[in-house]
Amino acid sequence: MTPIERKALPLPGGHNKVLLHSCCAPCSGEVMEAMLASGIDYTIFFYNPNIHPRKEYDLRKDENIRFAEKFGIPFIDADYDRDNWFARAKGMEHEPERGVRCTMCFDMRFERTALYAHEHGFPVITSSLGISRWKNMQQINESGVRAASRYPDLMYWEFNWRKGGGSARMIEISKRENFYQQEYCGCAYSLRDTNQQRKAAGRAPIQLGVLYYGAPDAEAGEGSV
Ligand code: SF4
Repeated sequence: MTPIERKALPLPGGHNKVLLHSCCAPCSGEVMEAMLASGIDYTIFFYNPNIHPRKEYDLRKDENIRFAEKFGIPFIDADYDRDNWFARAKGMEHEPERGVRCTMCFDMRFERTALYAHEHGFPVITSSLGISRWKNMQQINESGVRAASRYPDLMYWEFNWRKGGGSARMIEISKRENFYQQEYCGCAYSLRDTNQQRKAAGRAPIQLGVLYYGAPDAEAGEGSV
């Protein structure tokens, strides 16, 4: 674990048990280490049917499992029901990032996280999604609160994981662990749009499974975190 001084994290409601929705290892690395340092009892919930194609999904998930195993953190590998995701995204194929398709995408992932938490006795849910500088934190928090509000015994923990050096530690941990470095948000449409932007800039299309943080050629990649 990163040898740094950390303040104890203020969990809401006096609870000490959390279901952490994780989108990938780079985003959750700092969140995981911060919760470990505070002695929080947490479980990772990996539910990301948005990630396309399957090869990219497996790369991101396997990296996250590897890091969770390192610390002995329980890891729930939820469904990859991508047909359901594509059905919900219908009509939103050309929406920009941070638009309504992304709200749907966050809602879908948090709804399943909240259901699992409710059924398995977790009083608090949160997510690593908000640590990414590419994301709209308010949009994510609103989805999280909306999902948790379905159950009277559940709350969404709004915590700004970027604060207090969190963003820098996210990169530091990613390099230390040589995490796989994804180059687009995750869905088929973000892959399409990122490749269009790269083409316009004279760059080659994204190659899956090639870039890793800390590798000599890693700085050339954009990353999505
Ligand atoms: S751009 Fe990212 S957050 Fe938005 S719909 Fe695609 S995968 Fe989900």
